[in-house]
Amino acid sequence: MEILQIGGVSCRKLADEFGTPLNVYDENKIRYQAESAVRGFSSEKFETEVVYASKAFSSIALFRMLGEEGIGFDVVSGGELYGVIQAGGDMSKVYFHGNNKSNEEMEMALDAGVGYFVVDNVMEASRLADIADRKQRSTKALLRINPGISAHTHEYIMTAAPDSKFGIHIKDRKHIEEVIQKLSRSRYVKLSGFHSHIGSQIVEAESFEKALETMIGFLAGMKADMGLDNMELSIGGGFGIRYLDTDKPVELGDMCSRMVAAAERYTEEKGVSISKLITEPGRSMVGEAGCTLYTIGDMKTSGDKNYIFVDGGMSDNIRPALYDAEYTAVLAEKPDAVGETTYCVAGKNCESGDVLIRQIRLPKAETGDLLVMKATGAYGYSMASNYNRLGRPAVVFAADGNARLVIRRETYEDQYKLEV
Ligand SMILES: *Cc1c(COP(=O)(O)O)cnc(C)c1O
Repeated sequence: MEILQIGGVSCRKLADEFGTPLNVYDENKIRYQAESAVRGFSSEKFETEVVYASKAFSSIALFRMLGEEGIGFDVVSGGELYGVIQAGGDMSKVYFHGNNKSNEEMEMALDAGVGYFVVDNVMEASRLADIADRKQRSTKALLRINPGISAHTHEYIMTAAPDSKFGIHIKDRKHIEEVIQKLSRSRYVKLSGFHSHIGSQIVEAESFEKALETMIGFLAGMKADMGLDNMELSIGGGFGIRYLDTDKPVELGDMCSRMVAAAERYTEEKGVSISKLITEPGRSMVGEAGCTLYTIGDMKTSGDKNYIFVDGGMSDNIRPALYDAEYTAVLAEKPDAVGETTYCVAGKNCESGDVLIRQIRLPKAETGDLLVMKATGAYGYSMASNYNRLGRPAVVFAADGNARLVIRRETYEDQYKLEV
C-alpha cells in the first residue's frame, strides 16, 4: 500500500510520532522558493531585496532558515519583530509595517536597529520623527502609497480600494507632501522611498507590472515636483499559490524576474532611477510547502451531505470560514485511489461555518484514516486560535527523510497559563 510522504517521511509515521492535527512543512520546498525568489529578483541596474512577510507563518525556526537564504523580514507588530530578534535576524533588513504602530513598538524597533519603517500616514510620521529624534536612533522610512489598483482577488483581502485603511492614496498629494515635510525635519528618520502592496493571492503577473508602471510614474512625479530621485521602491507581495489543481499561478521565481524586468523598463521609459527594488512575498514562500494532517473521526450523513469529521477545524485554519477559501485533500494511505464518494470535511468547532472543504471526491474514507489537507502553510497556523479551547497543532519540518518538531502542540495548561 502506498503512503503519502512529506519531505521523505511517511504521513503515518508523522502522525504516530507527533499526533494530529499536525502542520507539516517540507523544508526543501521553502528553501526552493526562497532561492528562486532571490535568484529571480536581481538586477544590474539597482539593488534588490526579497523580504518575507512574516504574518504568513511566523516561527523562529523559519526565520533562521530564511535568514540563511539572505532574506529580510516584514513585520507588522512588536510580536512579529520579537520573533525575528530571537532568530538573530539581520535588523538592517527588517521592514516594520502596520497602520497603527504603538509608541512602545516604535521604541522597541528603534532600539533593535530596525532598518526601515513603512509609514502609513502623517500622524505616524510625526510620532516616529519625535521618538527617533528623542532617542537619537536612526532609521529609514518608506511611505506606503495606495496605488488605487484592485487586483483580481477576494474582497476581504483586497487592499488597494480608494477607501482602503492602508497607506495614502496616490492622488492625495497634500497628505503625501505633509509626510515628506514632517520627515525632512527629522535628524534621525530619512525618507528613502515608497511602498505599495496591491492585494493577495494574485496569480497573474500583469497586475504587478501595472502596479510598477503606476508607482514608477508616481516616482517620476516626485522627482519633477519634489526633487526626490533615486528612491527605493517596495512593490509588496501577494503572489498567488496553487491551492487547487485548477489554480495556475506564475512560479515565484518567474514572477520575480518579470517584476525586475518591468521595473527596469519603466524607470528607463519614465526617466527616473531607483536605488533599490524590494518585494515582500509571504504566502508564496510557505503556502504550498505546508500541509495539515488530520485524523478522521466520526462520519455521518445529514440531508444530502456525507460528513467527515476531523480532529481540528476553524481553530487551526480559519480561511475557509473567513474567506470561503478552497483547499484540496487526499487520504494519506490511499493517495492515488479513485474518488468514489463526495464528502464534506467539517471540523469539531462549535460553528455551522466550521467546514474545511465543502465538497471533495475521495476514496471511501474510514474512521482513523489520515486526511492531508494541502497548501495550508500560509495563514493557517498564524491565524489559528484557541476557539473552543482546542490547542494549536504542533508544527514539524521534514526534509530528506527526517522530521523535527519546531513548535510543540499547545496543551490545556498552556491555554490557561495566562489566568491570574
Ligand atoms: C500581507 C502583505 C504581504 C504579503 O502578502 P502575501 O499575499 O502573503 O504574499 C506583503 N506586504 C504587505 C504590506 C502585506 O500587507
